[in-house]
Amino acid sequence: MENKKVWFVTGASKGLGLTLVKKLLSKGYQVAATSRNLNDLSTAVGEMDNFLPLAVNLMDENSVEEAIGQTITKFGKLDVVVNNAGYGMIGALEELTDAESRANFDVNVFGSLNVIRKALPQMRKQQSGHVFNISSIGGFSGNFPGFGIYCATKFAVAGFTESLAAEVQSFGIKATVVEPGYFRTDFLTSGSLAVPQHPIDAYQSVRDTQAAHQHDINNQQPGDPAKAADVMIAAAESDSAPLHLFLGPDAYQVADAKIADVQKDMVAWKTLATSTNFDAVEV
Ligand code: NAD
Repeated sequence: MENKKVWFVTGASKGLGLTLVKKLLSKGYQVAATSRNLNDLSTAVGEMDNFLPLAVNLMDENSVEEAIGQTITKFGKLDVVVNNAGYGMIGALEELTDAESRANFDVNVFGSLNVIRKALPQMRKQQSGHVFNISSIGGFSGNFPGFGIYCATKFAVAGFTESLAAEVQSFGIKATVVEPGYFRTDFLTSGSLAVPQHPIDAYQSVRDTQAAHQHDINNQQPGDPAKAADVMIAAAESDSAPLHLFLGPDAYQVADAKIADVQKDMVAWKTLATSTNFDAVEV
């Protein structure tokens, strides 16, 4: 068991994080996992020798540092970090307050950055490691009206993961941005999905999207979190792990459409848009 990888997974009391942790434990990996509430996590997972449940406030660097330290003390190393904790937020950009918007960034973006900052010293020391940052297909395409702030947080995750991969490659550390489509977790339930505190009547289309997600899409998502966990474990064990890991046929479809749209705009405007250098001939 000692040779098995040590994983550190955030947001593990439910959803994709919980499914991944249970799967890892059943395969004999050594797993540290975080939750805001230790009792929720311990109850959900149960007690096992190869499991270290940790109560962590991801927005508090000291809390994160302590959790990473406890993981290294118990297991002696740190191989795979999964920045999974996050929540969705629906609401038009005009509806969501500065505080609501920043709160979503705090968890989805700055929480993950805290973990990365505290995990990398050990990984650099080992000259090995793999960081998985859970973004979303909404972090690759913003074509989800009513999810602008959430998409912005997930675009941020995708952006810094690409930079991270380039920064840590020479230390033998890998980074993967995971971009799932719809997976059947608690993500769209009222305990997870945030809704605007000050809705504006004019945004009927956003209310319709909200209702569709809460009532029609919730519990009908095509993606199986257990299969998502299998793919992530396979990527962590692979010598050729991808930088971009889209999960689910729906994510592939949206990504293909986005790439085609971008290429269409680039081709249509290429002559004018590339006429901007000092030495360019005027068009
Ligand atoms: P979920 O709601 O079932 O689980 C989310 C997890 O994040 C929970 O463990 C929760 O406790 C934790 N979390 C939420 N807010 C937190 C906070 N303020 N502080 C600390 N932890 C917090 O949803 P999920 O689908 O399992 O989500 C996991 C990740 O996958 C998220 O980052 C989410 O954005 C992403 N994602 C999910 C889907 C989907 O369709 N389920 C699609 C794309 C991306």
